[in-house]
Amino acid sequence: MDTLEKIEILGRSAQYDLCSEACGSEATRQRDDLGRWIYPAVLPDGKRVTLLKVLLTNACERDCAYCANRRGRDFRRVSFTPEELARTFEEMWRRGQVEGLFLSSGVCGRSGQTMDRMIATVEIIRQRIAFPGYVHLKILPGATPAHIERAMQLADRVSVNLEAPNPARLARIAPSKDFTAALLEPMRWVQRLRQESEGRLAPAGQTTQFVVGAAGESDREILTTADLLYRQVGLTRAYFSAFQPVPDTPLAGHPPTPLWREHRLYQSDWLLRKYGFTFEELVFDEDGNLPRQADPKMMWATAHPERFPIEVNRASREELLRIPGIGPRAAARIVRLRKRGKFRELSDLRRVGAIPQRAAPFVLLDGRRPPYQLPLWE
Ligand code: SF4
Repeated sequence: MDTLEKIEILGRSAQYDLCSEACGSEATRQRDDLGRWIYPAVLPDGKRVTLLKVLLTNACERDCAYCANRRGRDFRRVSFTPEELARTFEEMWRRGQVEGLFLSSGVCGRSGQTMDRMIATVEIIRQRIAFPGYVHLKILPGATPAHIERAMQLADRVSVNLEAPNPARLARIAPSKDFTAALLEPMRWVQRLRQESEGRLAPAGQTTQFVVGAAGESDREILTTADLLYRQVGLTRAYFSAFQPVPDTPLAGHPPTPLWREHRLYQSDWLLRKYGFTFEELVFDEDGNLPRQADPKMMWATAHPERFPIEVNRASREELLRIPGIGPRAAARIVRLRKRGKFRELSDLRRVGAIPQRAAPFVLLDGRRPPYQLPLWE
């Protein structure tokens, strides 16, 4: 099989791994002009790049119930050698087709051996090819501290996919993975190494991913774990991947998770990471799930009428971020621009990138409520 065919198969196999800052919104895959899968991604610094997102192999000895690559499933298994994949990446990079690499893998011949081959690939890319750009390297369950340190010396970002929010949930969908020893512990090592190196190793941090809806877990369970990881292992960000059944797996008949659920998780995650909300402030229904009918910030605002209306011309940045329809960028612009003149009309909010119709019921503009807000307060 030639390398083009391999990149086609292993690029398609990598579709379940998420790695862009823009995930959950506009990140989609596309084919390059040779028909190979590339992946437009937003880097942590906001720069947009195209990544070659690929697996080293889609052969796997594990039996995760949701996974297309699980052992025993009948489909074509393909592997790259480190040399082969590094050369293919070099070709695409020199032609200007990709600007970075996301490398993951099935677990073949035990995690350690696969990690050795993944690391060998990136060593060639960094040392022989002298590629200076963005590399995101997956750390496989069971990787040793030595693997993790080497991966962090080579990659900008590393990730360990938890897939489920706690040991009991993981046991239902990935019985051969040990939540604490094989997943959480490596995340702690990553944090320790980042702290000891003062952020020089894996400077873009570590991420994780949850398969949403496969293990019967609630949104509260997922966000509890994400929140703990942000605070306790310095997680840079979490990705949420709505479960979609794969034929010929134990979960083939399990209903797919609606995309709106994934979207609500991303919105709540933003509140935790960018808006100064605490986990305790998130609003869940009686089953511990995020309500579908309104976004999490609107749910919080309508549950807290005592906090509103907020005078846009006097509020702190933190208070502005509590107003539905006002995000971090709009809040920063309001704080800057109101020194030059007061915000008096809803159109002033539109000018700074806020969504006036969402904000209107919750604000005062120079002491006055916008005219159409009253019916919404009844
Ligand atoms: S370890 Fe599990 S999730 Fe990863 S490739 Fe193998 S079967 Fe799939």
